[in-house]
Amino acid sequence: MVSSYEHHKEHRHEQYRRILLAMAGEERTNEEHVSGYHVRQRVKNALTHTGNSVLWHKIKACSRSARCQSLWCGHCRNSAANAVETQIRKRLIDEEAIFAGKSLDRTSSEFNDHMNANHRHVSGYVGVFSLDQASVLAGLQFDRKRWKKLKERKTDRAFWIAGNYEMELVNYRFLVSSLNTESKKKQKQIAQLLSYSRDMGWINKGDNVGVLLHWHAVTNATEEALEDVLGDAYWLDGERLYKTSAPGVYVQSLHSNKSFDVNIGKMASYALKSATRYKHTFIGSDRGNELMLQSELSGLINLYHQIQKRNWRALLFTHTIGSREMTVLTNKEADRSD
Ligand SMILES: [Zn+2]
Repeated sequence: MVSSYEHHKEHRHEQYRRILLAMAGEERTNEEHVSGYHVRQRVKNALTHTGNSVLWHKIKACSRSARCQSLWCGHCRNSAANAVETQIRKRLIDEEAIFAGKSLDRTSSEFNDHMNANHRHVSGYVGVFSLDQASVLAGLQFDRKRWKKLKERKTDRAFWIAGNYEMELVNYRFLVSSLNTESKKKQKQIAQLLSYSRDMGWINKGDNVGVLLHWHAVTNATEEALEDVLGDAYWLDGERLYKTSAPGVYVQSLHSNKSFDVNIGKMASYALKSATRYKHTFIGSDRGNELMLQSELSGLINLYHQIQKRNWRALLFTHTIGSREMTVLTNKEADRSD
C-alpha cells in the first residue's frame, strides 16, 4: 500500500522531472566546451580561458621538487591512487598475517579466495551540491559527522571501512530529462538526491550542474553487518536510494576471478578520475558523452585543489566500527604513519 507520504514524495519527484524537462529545451549557453584531443589540452584550455592560469602553470610545471597534486596530472593521479591503496593495505596487514605461517603466497587460491570472499566494495552517496567550495565542504562535514555517530553506536558488529570521496560533476538538468534509457537508473537516483539536497539547502535552484558527492570504499563488513550498523543513516527522506542494497549504500562483492591484489588496486583508483566529460549523454548529443564547458571543468579542477589538502587527506577516510577488541589500526595510528 502506498502511504500518502510516499505518494507526496512521488508527486514531488514528478514535479521536479517536469520542471527540468521544460528547462532542457533551452539552449545550452553560448559558452564554449573544452577542446583538445588529450585531457592535458582540455585542462589547459579550461583553466587558461577562465582566469586560472596560475593553477594551469602549477600543473604544467609539476616535477619531483614541486608536485601539483592535481588528479588531472597523470603522475599525481597515480600518487593519489597509491595513497588510497596504502590506506587500505594498512587495514589488511593483520588479516593477511593469518596466512603468513610459512610465507604468504599472494598467488595461491587459498589466499585469494579467502580475501576476495571476506571483503566488499561499498559506495555511498551524500548528495548533490552547488559547484563551490563552501557547499561541498558542508557535505563532507555532514558525512564525516554521520560516521562519527555511527562509530558511537553500541553494536556487536566489528569492522573497518577505508576509502575516499569522489566529486563528480553532473549536469542534472539534462540528465534527469534525458530520454536515454541507459541512464534511467542514474536519473531516478539524481532526482531523489536532488529533492533531498534541495531540502538540505545544499544546491541552488537555478544551477544546471551540481557536484555529486559520493565515496567508494573497501570493507571487511558483511552486508548484514552494514545493515545493522548503518540502519537508515544513508536513507533519503525515509527511503533507500534507488537500486541500493538494504543499508542504502551499494554493496558489491569483489571479482572472484581476479586476484585480491588486482581487486584492491582497481578499487583504490576507482574514485580518482581526471574527468573532462559527463558520464551521461544529454538530449541532442548521441555521440558519446558530452565534454564539460570550460567553466565547469575549471570549476571542478579548482574544487579539488581547494578541498583535497596535502596528499588528498581531506578526501580519504578510514573508520573502525564496533567496541570489540579489533586487530586493526585505529584512525590515529593509520594517520601517524603517513
Ligand atoms: Zn602533478
